Amino acid sequence: MCYAIPAKLIAIHGKIGTIDYFGETRKILLDLDNVKIGDYVYAQGGVLVRTIPEKEALEILEYWKEIFFELKKTDEALANIDQKNLSPNALAVLQKVNLRKTLHKDELLSLLALKDPKELQVLYEIANNVRSREHGNASCVHGIIEFSNYCTNNCYYCGIREEKALERYRMSQEEIVSAAKHAVNHYGFKALVLQSGEDLWYDDDKLCAIVKEVRKLGVLVFVSFGLRSVETYRKLYEAGARAALLRFETSNADIFAKMRPRTKLSDRINLIKALKEIGYVLATGFLLGLPDETDEDIVNNILLTHSLAPDMYSFGPLIPSSNTPFAKVAKVNPDLVLKAMALTRFVAPDSNILVTTALETLDPSAKRGALLAGANSMMINVTPMQYRRLYGIYDNRIDADREVDKSVQETVELLYNLGRAPTDIGV
Ligand code: SAM
Repeated sequence: MCYAIPAKLIAIHGKIGTIDYFGETRKILLDLDNVKIGDYVYAQGGVLVRTIPEKEALEILEYWKEIFFELKKTDEALANIDQKNLSPNALAVLQKVNLRKTLHKDELLSLLALKDPKELQVLYEIANNVRSREHGNASCVHGIIEFSNYCTNNCYYCGIREEKALERYRMSQEEIVSAAKHAVNHYGFKALVLQSGEDLWYDDDKLCAIVKEVRKLGVLVFVSFGLRSVETYRKLYEAGARAALLRFETSNADIFAKMRPRTKLSDRINLIKALKEIGYVLATGFLLGLPDETDEDIVNNILLTHSLAPDMYSFGPLIPSSNTPFAKVAKVNPDLVLKAMALTRFVAPDSNILVTTALETLDPSAKRGALLAGANSMMINVTPMQYRRLYGIYDNRIDADREVDKSVQETVELLYNLGRAPTDIGV
């Protein structure tokens, strides 16, 4: 299976290249030496990850040729809005969104308050239409390896918090690299997220060695190791990591302080800003459905994420985790997550918005709904089976026992069904 379409490098301007596939052009960072016009390349998230021989590229493009245009037709049909269903309010929003005007906070709040299923349907259709306008049918599918469930933090919501009695594991460098190799060589992933609790057993040298080895596989390496020093993230960048995932969790400093003892919201936000400055492709966001959270907090979360200028929005519902202080929190309404996705699409039309496993766990049908409400990115868990259940950040994770083969098959079927192509290659 292939998660990216090869593209041809058609122009070079310093470190930026223009690539083309089937007449669509994108800009990418030329993150490799010795690339030249005419080369065929794979890129992810706007970063060149590897070149490929012309013969191989042409064979893959031949495979994609027919499917690609069929998929585009399906996507465009699904992104059509039936204007008849629009209430005057929704129409006004659509017009503002179409004119690329900024929505005010009170407009975002009024959209977040929508409850009528018909109005929600229109809201999602508008968001899907904007996604299609901005991205075409491009979508991205990344793999994630969760390599350690040790954590020095004690977050009230998290199932791997330090105080929770839990069988702990750490994958060795060899195990991590071997899992990454399998994901790349067997399943064709072009971007891999390496995630762990805040586990200082992996010092800078160990983390850099892992990143270097995984980068050698010709993929975009995403790091998600939590609060580490800026210096550590600089070293990881030097070692070849090009993307980083770190959520600020909530913009409400009081809620943050209550649920994350010993940590500070400002430290997390400053680190997120530093990641951007270092040059990482940035993924950030928040949890939805925290106790005491108001609609205004949710809109503030979206606006704070926007102000951090991420390349990818990553937010999802809080799912209860047994034996944690938040074990009994109220179930989040999946529509709240979809509404937040639609609003995010309006606030940041060209963003990448991730569908999280937490949303799928909350409601398996919401993955499709999210992709039709503005989202365009997915992750597949490629952690070796013997560790999956142990990375229990919340209960009943939908992917705890799901073989990679099955996840890949379901994802591809869903993408094709919605007319999407795995072409997250540039901006
Ligand atoms: N240690 C890293 C960090 O702090 O960013 C990465 C691991 S942490 C477990 C990854 C994310 O899991 C957190 O940013 C949080 O939003 C999410 N998470 C933790 N507990 C959760 C829960 N009960 N429901 C949904 N998401 C949760």
